[in-house]
Amino acid sequence: MQPQTVLKEKFGYDQFRQGQSEVIESVLAGDNVLAIMPTGGGKSLCYQIPALILPGLTLVISPLISLMKDQVDALNENGIAATFINSTLDYFEVQERLNQAAQGAVKLLYVSPERLDSEQFLSDLAGLKIDLIAIDEAHCISQWGHDFRPSYLRLTDTIQRVQSQPTIIALTATATSQVATDIMQRLSIQREVKTGFSRENLAFQVVKNQNSDRYLLDYLKINRQKAGIIYASTRKEVERLTKLIEKAKLPVAMYHGGLNEMVRRQNQEDFLYDRKPIMVATNAFGMGIDKSNVRFVVHAQIPGSLEAYYQEAGRAGRDGLPSEAILLFRQNDVQIQHFFIDQSEMDEEHKQREYAKLQEMTQYASTQQCLQQYIVNYFDDHCEPCGRCSNCLDTREEQDITIEAQKVLSCVKRMDQRFGKVLVAQVLTGSKNQKIMQFRFDELPTYGLLRGDSQKEVSGLIDYLVASGFLQPSSGQFPVLQLTAEGVAVLKGQTAVTRKMAVKVQKTLPEDNE
Ligand code: ADP
Ligand code: ZN
Repeated sequence: MQPQTVLKEKFGYDQFRQGQSEVIESVLAGDNVLAIMPTGGGKSLCYQIPALILPGLTLVISPLISLMKDQVDALNENGIAATFINSTLDYFEVQERLNQAAQGAVKLLYVSPERLDSEQFLSDLAGLKIDLIAIDEAHCISQWGHDFRPSYLRLTDTIQRVQSQPTIIALTATATSQVATDIMQRLSIQREVKTGFSRENLAFQVVKNQNSDRYLLDYLKINRQKAGIIYASTRKEVERLTKLIEKAKLPVAMYHGGLNEMVRRQNQEDFLYDRKPIMVATNAFGMGIDKSNVRFVVHAQIPGSLEAYYQEAGRAGRDGLPSEAILLFRQNDVQIQHFFIDQSEMDEEHKQREYAKLQEMTQYASTQQCLQQYIVNYFDDHCEPCGRCSNCLDTREEQDITIEAQKVLSCVKRMDQRFGKVLVAQVLTGSKNQKIMQFRFDELPTYGLLRGDSQKEVSGLIDYLVASGFLQPSSGQFPVLQLTAEGVAVLKGQTAVTRKMAVKVQKTLPEDNE
């Protein structure tokens, strides 16, 4: 049967989406392929259709245990013979399903990656006639990715052990080119099919300098009845926000790793079936949640990387309808992520990478570039400004801030490019704290140059200069600010700096009593 016919007859769709037929043809030709498509882009069909055309078995590796059963049920309802093997089954059930697979009674066999840690299971697989191995969430194989799973490393070995020399298809929605290269190397893939990373129906927004709680409640009240997820970084914050929302009499469920299994499941279902359309959760929630009508994803706190952000935010609008992805940004929340990295058991090199990712995530909150474009660029891809995000829709006038920028850059230089944002902001605002006195920064010509501004404002300005590429923070636990070539050009008066800002009302008229 032709892929097009299977699409119509088995799945009821008329047309392939972007990238699908290319990937499917590759697989049918026996070429290993990496498919990078956005969430909701239709990755599953890329292996399900070949599975129905190829004579042998398709093995699907998926970390989404919670979703596996649903996926298999959905296939069965379409009259497709599929089954799964994961830790919810006992030994005999596993053997029975393996037997079915061996006899060709199923076309698709879903397994969790942890299964591959079992030597017994591997040798059971080795003898099956497997034509295709589909690896979902393939970024989990890369330590450069944001969700590395050690079990995924077993895949290389697994593939070699399977005697029928299966074709490999790896699928992911989030992969920087570094991660993509890594996946391809580890799985011997030569071909990559990448479709637009942009999510045409998502409007990204960054909300800064606002009372986050107030904003959130107002937002939820305006969007009553709509389903949405609110992500927070810690269990404690999840509980606090849940209480806050309950108090406002809005139907809310919560989810985090500290709740027991039963409660988690109950809450998840309350959300899935719209009994409680608002879900407050840590990042433990979401992988494998296939709820199509999520209208908004609000990050009440900044996540650790743009990859994590895009994946979580991407859970909004899987049905293609207009949806919102909002980041509530507060500088202090960056410290929380910082702390997670400090406290983690990663080796030093790995930590450095995570600090750098957090840095890029933080810049997202300060950039004036189209937010969708910023994200897509992060994944080494291009797109036009989206026209929907809070930056595209920012109607404030660009103002020339070259002089302020020069003050900041010059201060960084005078401090020998050896200090971080906080101290630079303190020097510029003329703080008298101990450290400044100790280093005699009060004697610098740049000391107090921005005295009229608050420290927070100056920090914000520095963030903006970083996000615009005039300053570069070193990576690491205590990033120090350094000038880039563009920054030097600003100092020399060769480049102007502009920024969209609300016009500051200045006192121009004399006081009445003067
Ligand atoms: P992904 O895994 O990339 O996030 P899915 O494979 O879950 O996305 O597909 C998302 C939705 O799009 C599913 O409901 C799926 O049935 C639907 N879909 C996939 N391909 C097509 C197509 N060619 N035409 C119409 N709908 C499709
Ligand atoms: Zn935009």
